[in-house]
Amino acid sequence: MATERTFSILKPDATRRNLTGAVNAVIEEAGLRIVGQRRIRMTKAQAETFYEVHKERPFYGELVSFMTSGPVVVQVLEGENAVAKYREVMGATNPAQAAEGTIRKRFAESVGENTVHGSDSAENAKIEIAQFFQDSDIAR
Ligand code: ADP
Ligand code: MG
Repeated sequence: MATERTFSILKPDATRRNLTGAVNAVIEEAGLRIVGQRRIRMTKAQAETFYEVHKERPFYGELVSFMTSGPVVVQVLEGENAVAKYREVMGATNPAQAAEGTIRKRFAESVGENTVHGSDSAENAKIEIAQFFQDSDIAR
């Protein structure tokens, strides 16, 4: 399996509770390397674009308002099979259904305020990374 990159966000519920280091420790212990990281305040336009695929879902407005409610940490993670690996480490979207030891099981507050985002495919990872990182900042 080749080394791959994925895009991660530590969501506002994580930064509000000072969990950046705790979540990063889980990421690193899973063998994923944080090769890009920046703490930002997402604009409404950025959040709307980022979650555009969910535009027709009933929770879209709530999701955009949550993602802009406080600072987030945008990250690029690298490792073997990073996309699938990070999805596994994150756990199910709804923390009530997330497996023991996953980030969402340990830290998430609800299905909406669920601590982390991770890309769902290598193709989307590329698109999402490009929305928040310059190539030169994450050069190999
Ligand atoms: P994931 O983040 O696990 O890929 P989705 O892509 O389905 O999950 O949804 C994107 C985000 O939208 C979720 O992480 C969560 O913050 C929010 N969300 C998903 N489903 C709901 C829901 N039923 N109610 C409120 N927010 C939701
Ligand atoms: Mg998703």
